Amino acid sequence: MEDLKPIAFEGIDTSRPLIIAGPCSAETEEQVLCTARELAANGIRIFRAGIWKPRTKPGGFEGVGAPGLEWLRTVKQETGMYTSTEVATRQHVEQALEAGVDMLWIGARTSANPFAMQEIADTLAGAGADIPVLVKNPVNPDLELWIGALQRIYNAGIHRLGAIHRGFSTYGKHLYRNMPQWHIPIELRLRYPSLPIICDPSHIGGKRELIAPLAQQAMDMGFNGLIIESHCNPDQAWSDAAQQLTPEILNFILNTLVVRDSRQSTENLTLLRQQIDQIDNELLEVLAKRMRVSREIGQYKKEHRMPVVQANRYNDVIRTRLKIGTDMEMGSEFLKTVLLAIHEESVRQQIEVLNDRTR
Ligand code: PEP
Ligand code: MN
Repeated sequence: MEDLKPIAFEGIDTSRPLIIAGPCSAETEEQVLCTARELAANGIRIFRAGIWKPRTKPGGFEGVGAPGLEWLRTVKQETGMYTSTEVATRQHVEQALEAGVDMLWIGARTSANPFAMQEIADTLAGAGADIPVLVKNPVNPDLELWIGALQRIYNAGIHRLGAIHRGFSTYGKHLYRNMPQWHIPIELRLRYPSLPIICDPSHIGGKRELIAPLAQQAMDMGFNGLIIESHCNPDQAWSDAAQQLTPEILNFILNTLVVRDSRQSTENLTLLRQQIDQIDNELLEVLAKRMRVSREIGQYKKEHRMPVVQANRYNDVIRTRLKIGTDMEMGSEFLKTVLLAIHEESVRQQIEVLNDRTR
């Protein structure tokens, strides 16, 4: 992917983050148009709406299908906004191109499937399409699969290509609907510095109140834009109701976002990074010290024939540390992961001591 071109639209300032907004799904002509009018009035220039909806289970709203493409055409005519929708099959691509949609995106369930990606790529190539395409990360945290999906589209002759970070599925209940795992899009950025990355805080957060902090975090990390779900009547939305914002709230959030200038002097950054290097060294020293003490405890347990893991002690340690850490404004999911990892390494070190017959 050596020859990537910027995703630029006439009349949209490319020095600002690319903002795409609109409902999760196109539901009715009235809902599409009322949302589009309000978004346009709030300065949004690129409209999104899902026409075909991939649903985890049967029985959910699967999108209005091709008739919704006409509504997008009306949005464009009436508001002058550019339009975008999700495609997952040959037929979707053909119908969206035919309807004059301005940008396509590929969803997370589709980008996880190389057969579907190749079918989409072949259709784009066959049509000689010259349209920007955004590829969402696959549902599973697999950077190579994401890159593979992007490469298939690039090889189809699409050079106005971008990636959408929408978080990754996990089992169980968490703060986020899809875990951000920021290191994955950051690694993508390091591998392909000229590939624009757009953040989708709606599908990461899954809840309205998480959109603003996630959007800010994405800006702080130098993402190139945001795709945010917005609906004129979010509570009545036929899909993803909990995460959609009214156009007014969206506008408020966008206005409060601090967008840092990536071209400004990097002197301060260098200093801050040196500080981080120093702190990381200290962290490693402290961890190593903790492991040395753990090994001494292991030696004691060995001499007194005690088991390595004592559940009560472990629960106490986690509970008290979690409290201290959350008081220090760190996330509890993060703390649990770190504390568990430290505990596991301590146990491993103690077992090593136990098995060491020379001591
Ligand atoms: C969407 O953008 O509405 C959508 C279905 O997203 P994802 O593919 O990220 O789940
Ligand atoms: Mn959605």
